[in-house]
Amino acid sequence: MKVGLTGGIASGKTTVSNMFADLGVPVIDTDVIAREVVEPGKPAIEEIRERFGEDVIDESGNLERSAMRKLVFRDNDARADLEAILHPRIGAEVKRQSESLEGAYQIIAVPLLVNSMLLKFVDRVLVVDCQEDKQIERLLKRDSGSIEDAKRILASQSSREERLAIADDIIRNDSDLRHLQTQVIALHEHFQRLSKPQYQRERSPGKF
Ligand code: ATP
Repeated sequence: MKVGLTGGIASGKTTVSNMFADLGVPVIDTDVIAREVVEPGKPAIEEIRERFGEDVIDESGNLERSAMRKLVFRDNDARADLEAILHPRIGAEVKRQSESLEGAYQIIAVPLLVNSMLLKFVDRVLVVDCQEDKQIERLLKRDSGSIEDAKRILASQSSREERLAIADDIIRNDSDLRHLQTQVIALHEHFQRLSKPQYQRERSPGKF
């Protein structure tokens, strides 16, 4: 069973992923895959060079992330072109890793799952939900930047309501790590039970 894990920025996705991994659950991290597909010399970086020029690539052949981010932030066509280069490759790699994993269920962490083509690939969606004030507080504590920057990032992502609308399961991360761990353990048992063949109908009624 494939569980898509998502949540807003600094909501606690990585913390939750690590807790599942500590329980022995295989975790696929699409952030890691997204970085790997643009490594120097890979086909994606060459396509990016052709489309966007040398300004978005540094001397060692790495993607200049801040230049690229600025470009796609103000130009929707550029964003669509970048996504057309990256998303199929990320999707193919997620599928490859997913097929190679063993276990009752696996976690696939996708920060922007709401608008992702991977939404169709997963069997269930687990949303790490957190009040916006708390999200901003954790973001400012972890990264440098102003409160205005933090609010701008939150506003550029899907809303909390949009994420909750696609959720099959929700983890509330407004409290301490112990509270988070308790929820992860309960969900681990829930997912193990759901992954058994007799529960597959309950899991995804539209697919049978
Ligand atoms: P990003 O979207 O930037 O990848 P994320 O959703 O993966 O972030 P984390 O990195 O897990 O979020 O958490 C953000 C920060 O908040 C981290 O510094 C983490 O240690 C802290 N944090 C997360 N949950 C809690 C909690 N329940 N109590 C205290 N700190 C927490």
